[in-house]
Amino acid sequence: MDFELGESQRELRELARAWVDKEVVPHAAAWDRAESVDTAIVGKLGEMGFLGIEIPEEYGGSGGTALDYCLLLEELGRGDSSVRGIVSVSLGLVGKTIKTYGTAEQKREWLPRLCSGESLGCFGLTEPGTGSDAGNLTAKAVRGGDDWLLSGTKIFITNGTWADVAIIFARSGGPGPKGVTAFLVPTDAPGFQRTEIKGKLGLRGQATAELVLDGVRVPDTARLGDEGQGFKIAMAALDKGRMGVAAGCVGVARGCLEAAVKYAREREQFGKPIASYQLVQELLADIAVDVEAARLLTWRVADLVERGKPFGTEASVAKLFASEAAVKAANNAIQVFGGYGYIDEFPAAKYLRDARVLTLYEGTSQIQKLLIGRALTGVNAFV
Ligand code: FAD
Repeated sequence: MDFELGESQRELRELARAWVDKEVVPHAAAWDRAESVDTAIVGKLGEMGFLGIEIPEEYGGSGGTALDYCLLLEELGRGDSSVRGIVSVSLGLVGKTIKTYGTAEQKREWLPRLCSGESLGCFGLTEPGTGSDAGNLTAKAVRGGDDWLLSGTKIFITNGTWADVAIIFARSGGPGPKGVTAFLVPTDAPGFQRTEIKGKLGLRGQATAELVLDGVRVPDTARLGDEGQGFKIAMAALDKGRMGVAAGCVGVARGCLEAAVKYAREREQFGKPIASYQLVQELLADIAVDVEAARLLTWRVADLVERGKPFGTEASVAKLFASEAAVKAANNAIQVFGGYGYIDEFPAAKYLRDARVLTLYEGTSQIQKLLIGRALTGVNAFV
């Protein structure tokens, strides 16, 4: 076993760290207040090659490994989870899914644009009536001659109003997961409407949208994978996506730790820095332990991915632990900041608001426990 990063990984981490400190950290609070990041950040991410990690160079990607991706997402998560989420979805859920399941033509059409940041992708699985129970989604895909006609509503779709292409999961066959097919749908297609959802607790810099498809016509060449394979594609994307979310959570917890340690050393009460009080050190130590544990669980998933081994349960373990750890870390950081933790002049409050959704999306904490429980017992307790 080797816990050391290689030279190229250390270089990538330093590059990402410096870039996030310059391009993201100074703006994160203002973007949060404005309820939108400056969308020019997408092109900048593309220029750095950050939207093409794990995508082959022949399709405009920057190559690299699952661990490289985790290193990047940790830094982005430390800077601003809204920016991390843009990458998690456009590259993690959309680009990598096209890489794995797309035809050569689909890869040529979309991957170079997604990697450069010229286009963004979104992942349309969740519906108003089916969140955790995504296998029972109700959006319809019906044949119209050689084409498909797609109708239905998707909710909470990250990048939804900014994206140029959506992976839409719709029912082309019978009930249950086996009746679902995936499609690559240009978001400017007639009948495709998008409405941004405002008033989120966190990830306020990120566009989250409702998508309504009303008879959107796409050719059969827009089908991603085989008919009836859509749910399997969605679950494979989410397994890998959970690794990236976990890495983003490590970044949140690390950001909390760094901010809280700095503040604890500077802030004086009763004539001494609060860092000198054991109860404050306990708050910091608890975050530090969680950062290390969450990072090692996440890197283990990346290692399994690279070695071509099954990693789904390990990804659930990492995502469950890291997301709950991020929430705890942000809470501890607020405690260290005292009243100043409660206002957005300091970063702890935003970390908490952003962290909360990490225990909800890409499978809630309860759903991760059911996945882990099923792997342990062989019994499906979902229904
Ligand atoms: P529900 O499934 O209704 O769950 C409600 C509660 O019931 C939860 O506590 C859950 O754990 C629990 N529960 C449900 N079933 C069980 C069970 N069998 N056993 C025990 N407990 C259970 N979706 C996308 O497709 N694409 C995106 O890009 C995307 N981005 C998102 C961004 C944000 C900011 C948010 C908030 C959500 C996003 N989502 C996205 C949707 C997200 O994945 C869902 O919200 C999530 O899967 C939960 O679904 P739900 O909200 O319908 O909750």
